[in-house]
Parts: sequence; C-alpha cells; structure tokens
Amino acid sequence: MVEIDILTLHPQLLDGPFSHSILKRAHQKQLVKVNVVDLKLYGLGKHRQVDDYAYGGGAGMVMMLEPLVAAYEKLREKGEYDHVIYMSPDGERLNQQLANKLSLAGRILIVSGHYKGIDERFRESWITMEVSIGDYVLSGGELPAAVLVDSIARLIPGVLNDESSALTDSFQDGLLAAPVYTRPADFRGLKVPDVLLSGHAAKIEEWRHEQSLLRTRERRPDLLEE
Ligand code: SAH
Repeated sequence: MVEIDILTLHPQLLDGPFSHSILKRAHQKQLVKVNVVDLKLYGLGKHRQVDDYAYGGGAGMVMMLEPLVAAYEKLREKGEYDHVIYMSPDGERLNQQLANKLSLAGRILIVSGHYKGIDERFRESWITMEVSIGDYVLSGGELPAAVLVDSIARLIPGVLNDESSALTDSFQDGLLAAPVYTRPADFRGLKVPDVLLSGHAAKIEEWRHEQSLLRTRERRPDLLEE
C-alpha cells in the first residue's frame, strides 16, 4: 500500500479525482490511501494567514514557511516520508519512469502551491523532490498532484484489473501503445484489421508490436533514440 498525503489550500479541488473509477477502487481495496490535508488549518493567527507579500516587491503572494512547516511536522508524527514532493513547473518532468519509481514508495507527501509559489526555504530544507507535469503554468498544484497520484496509483499491483493492465500502456516498454478496436467488426465499411479477428495469438502479438514501433517512429521518434 502507498500512503499519500496532499497538502493544499484548496482541498475541495481534490474531492473529485479520487472518488471515482479506478482511484476509488484502489482506495476501497486499501491499495492506495490518499489523505487530503487543508493547509489553512495550520495558518497563523485568528485569520489563519497562509500567504504574504513577496520580499523585494512585485505582483503575487507567496505561501509562508511557518504553516507549511507546522503541517509537515504534524503529519510527520505518523511516520517517515519516502518523498516530500513539491509540484512545480521548474521541477523534474513527470514521466512513466518516475511514476514507476514512486509507486514503490510507502509514504509520500505532496505539497501543492498557489499564487507565486511557496517560500524558497521550504523547498530547500524540507522538499526532497520537485515534479512538473509539463512546460506550462497552472494556477495551483492540485491538478498536478491529482495527475501524479493517478500515474502512481494505477501501477500498484491489484489496482488495475487484468483487462486494463498497465504493462501494455504507452511508455511502459519505451514505445507508444498499439491501436485498439472493439465490436462491431464492420461499422459502415470501417473495418477492424483482419489479423485481430484471426484468433492467431502469435500473429496478433507481432502485429501489435509492429504497430507500436510504427506509431512511435511517426509520433515520438525521440523515444526510439533513447
Ligand atoms: N511562479 C511560479 C508558478 C506558480 S503557479 C513559476 O513561475 O514557476 C502556482 C502553483 O501551481 C505552483 O506553486 C505549483 O504548485 C503549481 N503548478 C503550476 N504549474 C505546474 C506544473 N506545470 N507542474 C506542477 N505544478 C504546477
């Protein structure tokens, strides 16, 4: 089981992603435990302040160090973290390899930022890994955190049923996935490739591998170079 705590100023944004479909099932089967923690609870003073103006001026608020540290220290009492991750556009780019690695962890804390981001000192002294979901800027780390958790959860043995096995997905073997079809075999003249109807397992396997290679060469030649 992987236990994932997510620290956020907007817990409501994470209500949806974990309460449906595969992630819901993972939770029910106790294979993944996601715990969304409201950072506001650790805010300063009676207004529960969590952000302040940036030193040196400029537009945008910065998330303060003290609430983050207070939340971290409280959560840490329940056990050590294998990774303390900050979602950030300047972090390591998320890919299948990184998801594979994180799926082997026992306990992970994900910090999601807002506004201009979090005080750099928290990144330097508490964060152990920074992860970006791509070269674009979103308004908060909640959706990136949900993307990261999904990519990790579906790799944990037992989360996916056989029919949606992660092993045949794109990137898992360094290639894009082959195209898939379902019934009917002929829809207004749009036909399913004959080989898939042949019942010949070895030929189907060969065809799928060929299609994977073709697709990868066409769409992502960079993957073949690696
Ligand atoms: N000023 C920052 C961006 C802040 S965006 C910069 O230019 O780097 C606000 C928050 O959204 C960030 O703290 C981060 O947690 C999250 N975020 C935005 N884009 C992201 C991305 N591509 N990957 C991961 N997290 C992202």
